[in-house]
Amino acid sequence: MQPDKLYTPLTYLKGVGPRRASLLGRELGIETYQDLLFHFPNRYIDKTRFYKISELERSQSDVQIIGRIVHMKTVAQKRGKRLVATFVDESGEMELVWFRGQRWFQERLKLNEPYVIFGKANWFNGKYSMPHPEMELLSKFRQQKRIKMQPVYPSTEKLGQNGITNRLISQWIQQVLEITSSCFSETMPPEVCNELQLVDKQSALQQIHFPDSQNALARALFRLKFEELLLSKKMHRKSRIKGFVFEEVGENFNSFYKQHLPFELTSAQKRVLKEIRADLGSNAQMNRLLQGDVGSGKTMVAVMTMLLALDNGYQACLVAPTEILAQQHYNSVHALLQPMGIEVGLLTGSVKARDRKPIHEGLRSGHLSILVGTHAILEEQVRFANLGLAIIDEQHRFGVAQRARMWTKNQTPPHILVMTATPIPRTLAMSLYGDLDISVIDELPPGRKPVRTVHRRDSDRLRVFGFLREQIALGRQVYVVYPLIQESEVLDYKDLMDGYESITREFPPPEYQVSIVHGKMKPQDKEIEMQRFAEGKTQIMVATTVIEVGVNVPNASVMVIESAERFGLSQLHQLRGRVGRGAEQSFCILISGSKLSEDAQTRLQTMVHTNDGFEIAETDLKLRGPGNLMGTQQSGLLTLKIADVVKDRDILKAARHYAALLLKQDPMIGREEHRMVRENMQRMDVFKNIWDHIS
Ligand code: ADP
Ligand code: MG
Repeated sequence: MQPDKLYTPLTYLKGVGPRRASLLGRELGIETYQDLLFHFPNRYIDKTRFYKISELERSQSDVQIIGRIVHMKTVAQKRGKRLVATFVDESGEMELVWFRGQRWFQERLKLNEPYVIFGKANWFNGKYSMPHPEMELLSKFRQQKRIKMQPVYPSTEKLGQNGITNRLISQWIQQVLEITSSCFSETMPPEVCNELQLVDKQSALQQIHFPDSQNALARALFRLKFEELLLSKKMHRKSRIKGFVFEEVGENFNSFYKQHLPFELTSAQKRVLKEIRADLGSNAQMNRLLQGDVGSGKTMVAVMTMLLALDNGYQACLVAPTEILAQQHYNSVHALLQPMGIEVGLLTGSVKARDRKPIHEGLRSGHLSILVGTHAILEEQVRFANLGLAIIDEQHRFGVAQRARMWTKNQTPPHILVMTATPIPRTLAMSLYGDLDISVIDELPPGRKPVRTVHRRDSDRLRVFGFLREQIALGRQVYVVYPLIQESEVLDYKDLMDGYESITREFPPPEYQVSIVHGKMKPQDKEIEMQRFAEGKTQIMVATTVIEVGVNVPNASVMVIESAERFGLSQLHQLRGRVGRGAEQSFCILISGSKLSEDAQTRLQTMVHTNDGFEIAETDLKLRGPGNLMGTQQSGLLTLKIADVVKDRDILKAARHYAALLLKQDPMIGREEHRMVRENMQRMDVFKNIWDHIS
């Protein structure tokens, strides 16, 4: 076995010089033999089928035909010369066309000799024509090993322009497969190979590039996906860690529940609290993700969980991602607990040094039992006497790193509750957060009127303005949001300013006052404008998506989203969440152009027909795939090359099962028969190619 051979730089391969090697490195990250072997096809073309010219159809993709060139000529055109060949078989006639390298082809192509051609035939000027076909003399073609399914590799324009064709790539891979055939030894534990009848690694690689049949391809894919998932570090999370036991439901919790609870809990809140209490009372550390749409009442769950910590003699903290949110949390927690005489501390970046000191001391002595703040809480100097519970409100992001930081605060790790308003589809959540338990608040407090959503075209704008006037006359306020997409910031800014002008024209002072907030403003100016809107001094807020997460103006009841087709689903849903916070019926108006892509149409329709964040997230997942969902990128499972945590659920389940078995038998993965598992787990990180899923 010579595994080192796998790391040979590509320049050593016949036909790959330094220039091509560096291109492959830059464009696709392929530098070694191994990289090339792990550059998988994203589809295959059936090469067992030959077409007759008379059988061609207009919507066909690549076809393979046997025939002869009977005539060739160069044709001069406005946009340059091209070479046109008349190609015939017994059924008909078509054209082959070259726009580049005419001379070269004209000199080499033979008239009246049978060729096998391959490419896409376009219907053009009353006949079929195939630009730049792949072609080979039939006599030569017959001598070759027949490829049944031809691999098609992901590539880039630049590679194509530099003559690195699909055919070359597949030839190189063929070469590398031969050179490295002795380099693979079995990585999977023998009992797993047996039970699952895995094909060996070498043939799996051979078959994924050059499959003998669909069946062989399927087995190769299973083997490679299973291996990748099993070796993923995410599968090998340590099993449960010992945690503090909160046995008591004591004085604080009970008296709050009986005397200070301002409303009846929803049944979803009750269920979630039960789930949390079961965790806290067990011997293990809680690691729970609490999902609930904006306004579903997560804060109350957080407060009551903190009271459980207090009842058992522990401190608790609540960490928010921004100052504004920390302040808001502090206000609500403080208001709820003050009547019970429980002191709450606030610690953010802007708390002055002299005000920090008593907080630090209170935490260290244990006198201060509840702390709310930003990540300032995670700093070195902040020490707790006995932190038993950390609640992290992540709102729209998943800070895995922050979660880990909380651990270092104690010998025994505190219980962790992560709250998020981003609904992650269940199917995905289970894969991504295998190490977290999940609770869901899937019910809004009673009396909320769901936001009514409509889709309007640009041409309906005057009617929309009329509606806004009615709403403003009723005393309500309105948001008008424009998209902001980084690449075209200048253009978007212009859109925003044009929009602002037309709004001020339609809604002139002194009757109307219009605020504007965008990314180019100074923070203090932004703050002032937000404040004016919040106080009701302006009726309309024109903004880009910078309107801060967590902005809460209950009197705002209309959200108008301009160029709505340019927003992603989760963003639309987040924006809509800015209204519907007061007692009034709220509205969301999505304005788009009249030409919509199919995906855009689906997005807007989804918004119109549902307010359910989970349903929206499921649709988003279908449209965009897991890698693009908000916040999920950081999860290690999404950097996989070949397995897809959503499509390959069954393989994932199998891998999870065997990972657990493996850990049970050999917790440190130290045994000799698991050496290859261990080494390959460490090596996983080196695969850095981009994999386009086989569909
Ligand atoms: P989230 O943090 O999940 O977005 P909040 O905890 O801020 O939501 O709750 C939103 C609003 O709903 C708050 O004003 C809160 O007091 C109120 N609320 C929470 N639970 C209930 C309930 N069971 N019944 C009525 N109102 C509730
Ligand atoms: Mg909240």
